[in-house]
Amino acid sequence: MAKRDYYEVLGVERDASKAEIKKAYRRLARKYHPDVNKEPDAEEKFKELSEAYEVLADKDKRANYDRFGHAGAREGFTGGGFSWNDFSHFDDISDIFGRDFFGRDIFDVFFGGRYRRRTSARRGSDLRFDLSIDLEDVIYGARKEIRVERTESCNKCNGSGARDANSIKTCDQCQGTGRVKRQQKTPFGSFVTVTTCGKCHGKGRIITEPCDKCHGSGRVRAKKKIMVEIPKGVESGYYLLLRGEGDSGVNGGSPGDLYVVIKVKPHKLFRRDGSDLHYELPVTFSQAALGDEVEVPSFDGVVKMKIPSGTQTGTVFRLKDKGVPILNSNQRGDEMVKVKILTPEKLNSRQRELFHELAEMEGSPVQQGDGFLDSFLNGIKKRLS
Ligand SMILES: [Zn+2]
Ligand SMILES: [Zn+2]
Repeated sequence: MAKRDYYEVLGVERDASKAEIKKAYRRLARKYHPDVNKEPDAEEKFKELSEAYEVLADKDKRANYDRFGHAGAREGFTGGGFSWNDFSHFDDISDIFGRDFFGRDIFDVFFGGRYRRRTSARRGSDLRFDLSIDLEDVIYGARKEIRVERTESCNKCNGSGARDANSIKTCDQCQGTGRVKRQQKTPFGSFVTVTTCGKCHGKGRIITEPCDKCHGSGRVRAKKKIMVEIPKGVESGYYLLLRGEGDSGVNGGSPGDLYVVIKVKPHKLFRRDGSDLHYELPVTFSQAALGDEVEVPSFDGVVKMKIPSGTQTGTVFRLKDKGVPILNSNQRGDEMVKVKILTPEKLNSRQRELFHELAEMEGSPVQQGDGFLDSFLNGIKKRLS
């Protein structure tokens, strides 16, 4: 996955409040700010963090993101040229490097008696599924069933990885807490470092006999059918984000997300340009010359359209609101109908006769550009002589 989930980036739950999001952002901003963090990927992480915050801190962008994933966020994303030294999110820059900045992972340390538990729980991986859809699906919206291969919690052991309840023992090293505390005195005061228990790897329990289906991992590969709702107006490259439909988590961690990447197949009749549709309308020579009422296909059925007499090839007529729906709105683009005059190829003798007659009546060929053609040709003649 090129792009990580914004909630994951900030390390907050899906239903996190605005205040929680802000707090998480400040904490991580302190950690990854390139002025203090000299890791090679610090700047990259800080950018990612800032982008995630930019979306999740904004009510509308967040709602869009929740519905459509990164595609939805992109819709409302202005410019995208965010740089890591843009501090507009901070009320006060001293907050970042303020009193409680020690350059230490706050997860692992007591601060003012506040402690956040770190477990060995790990979020499942995000998955990507490429879904080809027809232009019709884009216009009307659609429900599609997809089959995704993913890792699921083992149903034989309920994800515990143990053969049965008696095969799970509480870890004696950490008494089931999964972590070991150590007190330390420093110039900043006394604090407690908490590390993951080495014996149970933070699980708090030890499996004596593994489940024979999942071999103790608690997870199995499975194929899952999922219904996907395609919103009207999507474009190739848009993601639909299905929360929690990715690989299952490890040790009670939350499942990953499923990104359904949309690819819209080309259409035989219409070419799409954003919310507009382009249709090429073949008309005969005489229809164009005399004018006619023609039938034009549209996604609302056949539309009757008048072609005025003397219509030139390449003339474009606009059928208002017959185009592609605009995502997240009730509006639609237009259908642009471009006239293409068909020159007759096979003439029968009567037709040939009539065209000859027509040609005689037309006389000399059409003048290009108000007599400029004559002066152009005269000029050329002089130069060549
Ligand atoms: Zn342990
Ligand atoms: Zn199992």
